Formats: sequence, structure tokens, C-alpha cells
Amino acid sequence: MSEQQTFDVVVIGAGPAGYHAAIRAAQLGLKTACIDAALGKDGKPALGGTCLRVGCIPSKALLDSSRQYWNMGHLFDQHGISFKDAKIDVATMVGRKDKIVKQFTGGIEMLFKANKVKAFFGFGTLHNGNVVKVKQHDGSEVELKGTNVILAAGSDSIELPFAKFDGDCIVDNVGALDFTEVPNRLAVIGAGVIGLELGSVWKRLGAEVTILEALPDFLAVADAEVSKTAAREFKKQGLDIRLGAKVSATETKGKGKKKEVLVTYSDAKGEQTLTVDKLLVAVGRRAATKGLLADDTGVKLNERGQIEVDAHCHTGVDGVWAIGDCVRGPMLAHKGFEEGIAVAELIAGLPGHVNFDTIPWVIYTEPEIAWVGKTEQQLKDEGVPYKVGSFPFAAVGRAVAMAEPVGFAKVIAHAESDRVLGLHLVGANVSELVHEGVLTMEFKGSADDLARICHAHPTMSEAIHDAAMAVDKRAIHKA
Ligand code: FAD
Repeated sequence: MSEQQTFDVVVIGAGPAGYHAAIRAAQLGLKTACIDAALGKDGKPALGGTCLRVGCIPSKALLDSSRQYWNMGHLFDQHGISFKDAKIDVATMVGRKDKIVKQFTGGIEMLFKANKVKAFFGFGTLHNGNVVKVKQHDGSEVELKGTNVILAAGSDSIELPFAKFDGDCIVDNVGALDFTEVPNRLAVIGAGVIGLELGSVWKRLGAEVTILEALPDFLAVADAEVSKTAAREFKKQGLDIRLGAKVSATETKGKGKKKEVLVTYSDAKGEQTLTVDKLLVAVGRRAATKGLLADDTGVKLNERGQIEVDAHCHTGVDGVWAIGDCVRGPMLAHKGFEEGIAVAELIAGLPGHVNFDTIPWVIYTEPEIAWVGKTEQQLKDEGVPYKVGSFPFAAVGRAVAMAEPVGFAKVIAHAESDRVLGLHLVGANVSELVHEGVLTMEFKGSADDLARICHAHPTMSEAIHDAAMAVDKRAIHKA
């Protein structure tokens, strides 16, 4: 092993949480190193974590390709546009996705160089005394010592004991982003964000998609009316979502192109079986802490296997912090971004802070689903008095002009103070609209504030304006 190298900050993991922490620390004048073990599809080191390699960005690339294809058959006719013999070339679509991934993972490497973050490509393990030993891809080892160490190891897909990933028929997100052809029949275990998004991709391209969800309610985490609208639209699109369906076994049969998976599950009607060509297991992710911590570090894991931290992402061990998917809180890239920046700023002696109450959630299906803040159910449970205003996109000129009239905006405000407590959206491109709610809530604004802000006409955002006006029953465009 070569001589120990010293840094102000050593970050393990160059995903959204880690690379934000590393770059911000370097911007603040701290001597920073960042270690990542991941390799890209070409076998070369690839920075950017799950998000850039096999998560947010590649899934959105495929969602967009598949949406264009789907719209040709389901939307363009309304505009008087017809196509003959539309075809999808999966290799080109996946190739485009790979190029985007390469552009962005390469971009992080460039940002590291520009900001003088020293990148190490290999697997890092934290030892006592803030020492990180890195096993590099060429087999050599280096030892780094950080005044501060930030653990940003991210998460891995959860594997079910009766549905082991085989990289072919039974896959996680990595495999489902790289199918070489549209499967005739795809089953997805889990109707969460990843299952719905990747299920939508292959459904739009022509696969028969069945989503098996063990819970009795669809998307219980979202506002109940939003979930109901989304479920209705997904059904219209032909996504077969079976609730209360608990998978107990899988069996792969046949060879080569004839391989298929027999899935056994039980629901209210008893034991059922389903035969598919591909099975995507999307039942959640768990903190990737295997091999991250030597026995003597003092860093603790909680009962869910996440690294234990306080409100400031500090582990309780001097100079050791943890951020992103490997700690509590929503497994979202932007939550990791903010924690990364906050911790770098805290280390530099600045005030660093993440407001968990205003983290937006988005599901990039068609229609899109987005929200920030509390749902009506949560407020009822907490006994908080509230009032609601909602407005349908069907009455919004821009949405109708785009032939995208599905969904609505719902503003929830405190019954007495009028302060906005939540914004819930389902409709076209609502991922971009949700930030109106985030901003209003960050600035502790009221529904009246939102209602008095001039919104451009015609835009989708007018639904939020009218929903805010509807909170006090003064929406102009509502009969
Ligand atoms: P990760 O992105 O997992 O990065 C951790 C990195 O650390 C990895 O590169 C890993 O190789 C490396 N590492 C781990 N241990 C070590 C070690 N010991 N030594 C060296 N390196 C190590 N979130 C959103 O907000 N929006 C989305 O649209 C979205 N879409 C998603 C779609 C899919 C299909 C998936 C799977 C996830 C999606 N997510 C999305 C979630 C998002 O990807 C994660 O929340 C985010 O990547 C977490 O960032 P992170 O930095 O904590 O961890």
C-alpha cells in the first residue's frame, strides 16, 4: 500500500449525494477526495451513482422515447396527424439512453477536475480514525485520511429469495433498462415509483404488463384523489395492476428465446399463476452498506440497515457524516443533493440545512404525479384543520389545446392561517409545476398569496392559480 494521503474531506460514493457534497466542499476551499466503485456498461469507471447510471436519467430517457411512440398511436390522431407503419427500434432507443448516461457520468468527472476534487476509482472501507482504505480497480490499494468523511454509499435493489435476479428473465431496474426487445409479457412485482415508471415504458412499446402489488391500496403514499385518477388512467392505458397480490414463488422454464417465468401469487381469490417473458422485481431498495464499515468505526446502523444520523447527517462519530439513500428519509436524488450541500457547508462552518417538509415527490408516468407537503389523509390523522381548493386541467385552455386535459391541481391550506400545507397534482408535465408549491411552502406563503400571483395565460400553471382561488371558493373558471 502506498503512503497515506490526507484530505479535509473524503467522500465515499459519487452518486447525487456524494458528488454534490464533494463539489461543494471543494468550492468552499476544502481539499476533497471522492471514491466510487461503479463501472459503466463499457466496463470503465462511471461517476454519478444509481441516478445517472441506472436510475433517474436513463429511466427518463426511456420514458420519453416510449411516450413519443405511444403518443403517435394515442394522441397524434386528435391533431390530425397520422402515421403508417410506426416502428420502435429498441436498440436505437437503448443506444440513445446509453449516450445520455455517458454524457452525464462523464460530466461529473469533468466537474470533479474543474473543482479539483480528486477522484479514486475503487471500493472504499471506513476504518477507525477516519481512515478510508480504497481497493482500486487495478488491484492496488490506497489509504486516505479525512478530517471529515462523508458516507454516501447509496442503495441497492432488494432481491426476493424466491425471485433471484438472473440478469435475463428476472431483473431489477438495471435489467429492465436494457431489454434488447419489447417483451411480449412483462410482470412487475411492486406498484411503487420504479415499477410504475418502468412498467409504463414497456407497456407503451407494446408489452402486456401486469403489476402485482401486495398492498390492498394503490399508491397509498399519494393523495387519495390523485391515486384514484392515476389508477383510472393507467387502466385505460392497459396497465393491469392487481392489488393485494402477494407473490410467493417463481420458476423459470424453457431455454433461449422460449424462456419464460411462472409467477405464483395469492390474492383475495386464492392462489393464482401468471406466465411472463420477463419479471421485474421493484419492491424497494436498501442502504448499500456491505463492506463499507470496518468493525471498529463506531458508526451505527438502524434496524432497517441504514446508517444512523442526527438531523444534521452526523453519525455521532467525530468527523463522520452520512447522506443520501444510505440514511433515513425519502430515497430521492434531490434529497441527496440537498444533504450533500448541507453537510459540506456545515463542515466549512456555514449553516447547512435540509427542509424535509418541502421535498417534492414526482412519478413520471402518464399522467405525471407530483406533490409536496401533506395529504388530506395525513392532516386528518394529525387533527390539523384544513381547507381545499382543486381545479381540473380539463378547464385549463393550455391543457385542452395540448389535448392533455386529464388530472387536476389541489391546494391544501390551513383552515385558520391559510398557510399552504400541500400541493397535489396529476396531469401532463406536473413535475415542473410542483415547485410552485415548494416555493410557496418554503416562503411560508398562503393560498391567498398563490391566488394573487399573476400566472401567464395560457399555461398549465393556471390550474394551481385557480385551485388556490378555489380554496376560498372564488375560482373564476369553475361553474
Ligand atoms: P447512489 O446514487 O446509489 O450512489 C451511491 C454510489 O456510491 C454508487 O455509485 C456506488 O457505486 C458507490 N458506492 C457504494 N458503496 C461504495 C463503497 N464502499 N466504495 C466506493 N463506492 C461505493 N430519484 C429521483 O429523485 N428522481 C427520479 O426520477 C428517480 N428515478 C429513479 C429510477 C430508478 C430506476 C431508480 C433505481 C432510482 C430512481 N431514483 C430517482 C432514486 C435515485 O436514483 C436515488 O435516490 C439516488 O441515486 C440516491 O443517491 P445517493 O448518492 O444516495 O446514492
